[in-house]
Amino acid sequence: MALKFYNTLTRKLEEFNSIHPGEVRLYTCGPTVYNHAHIGNFRAYMFEDLLRRYLKYRGYKVTQVMNLTDIDDKTIKGSIAKGVSLDEYTAVYIKGFFEDIDALRIERAEHYPPATTHIPEMVALVKKLLDRGVAYRAGNDIYFSIAKFPHYGKLSHMDLSQLQAGASQRVAADEYEKEQVSDFALWKGWDPADGNVFWETEIGKGRPGWHLECSAMSMKYLGEQFDIHTGGVDNMFPHHENEIAQSEAATGKPFVNYWLHCAHLVVDGKKMSKSLGNFYTVRELLDQGHPAVAIRFLLMSTHYRASLNFTFDGLDGAKAAIQRLRDFIDNLPNGIKNVPSGKVDEYVDRVKQGFTDGLDDDLNISPALAAIFDFVRDINRLIVEGGISSDDAAKVIATMEGFDSVLGVLHKETVSLDQEVEALIAERIAARKARDFKRSDAIRDQLLAMGIVLEDTPQGTVWKKKL
Ligand SMILES: [Zn+2]
Repeated sequence: MALKFYNTLTRKLEEFNSIHPGEVRLYTCGPTVYNHAHIGNFRAYMFEDLLRRYLKYRGYKVTQVMNLTDIDDKTIKGSIAKGVSLDEYTAVYIKGFFEDIDALRIERAEHYPPATTHIPEMVALVKKLLDRGVAYRAGNDIYFSIAKFPHYGKLSHMDLSQLQAGASQRVAADEYEKEQVSDFALWKGWDPADGNVFWETEIGKGRPGWHLECSAMSMKYLGEQFDIHTGGVDNMFPHHENEIAQSEAATGKPFVNYWLHCAHLVVDGKKMSKSLGNFYTVRELLDQGHPAVAIRFLLMSTHYRASLNFTFDGLDGAKAAIQRLRDFIDNLPNGIKNVPSGKVDEYVDRVKQGFTDGLDDDLNISPALAAIFDFVRDINRLIVEGGISSDDAAKVIATMEGFDSVLGVLHKETVSLDQEVEALIAERIAARKARDFKRSDAIRDQLLAMGIVLEDTPQGTVWKKKL
């Protein structure tokens, strides 16, 4: 079966063909770093991780770009409210974002361009749009004229008559509603409300509009035409519509071949909101003791175009599912009887086919996971019925590892050397207090074998790495 995606642009399930053979260029809209991203945001980043990892599983080289919006209406407002510079304000949330994606085992993209370090690219794009007559000045601002771009609305499939009615309107805000179809700001001339946030450029003193950065930075890193652009369904209008307008009006070429959008996340069936008390960031869930890998599995295990209902029961279910997979791997050595079952090859072929058939079908994760759990059941049955050979076990593990390059849930959390050493030292202190010198000596030897030397000082036990 061929790999297929549901393309928002055409509203059709389409076979995927990359522009450059064997290579996929992917742009994923990133976080606005004015607060810590919530689990609804991470649903989109998780979907993009599944997409990226599956493309790699299918043999593609992936070049992924995710922007960091560190300049927009919200970041400026937040930094002024806090009385700190824009950089200081956003640095906290950029750091937090990377901590969160690492915790969720989201693979790092190849590029994370921050908007503030790409102002020259954005200015160049605005100049091009002014030269082509599709942008115009209004006071110190520069707007895109949607009446000059006949394809405006092609992504969100909007009614053209509505567009013409709204075409004389202008909107300066970075985010606006669908009812407000209007010319949008490419460049915002400096306003006292912006405080000391501005750039002196050829097109004036000011700052870029939000939509502009994704056009400028995607084309810088991926070329004027690339394969896949993704985001949450909220981004479809106006953000992605405006990206298409800016990019295609500037280059005269189709911007992106496949647009993929993931649906909303709700909590206990309700829209997530601070006032309902059902608003969660990843760090809040981790602080409550929920394993990151369970959050990962839960966010991944509903098809990306279906609304995801986040519940704590669901999180427990995710934990149980991961435990089942890990137990399966851990218990395999006990099932080795060195009697080839003769069935393992067949089961391996079947599960690989089931996994690929599912994910090839617009990343349909449910049948892919079902195939894996059927496989686990089949192998466990072989073990009960008489065992498998060590070759069989190696094949099973290699197969599961292949799937895990996409799922990312099998491996236990790695503990840093520091954490491990500190834990052993604490255990040794406890053993000495209990006068269990045998245990305390054993721990000293274990640490020595790890290259760690202990020194008991009047201030307590200190450790250093053996040279
Ligand atoms: Zn974007």
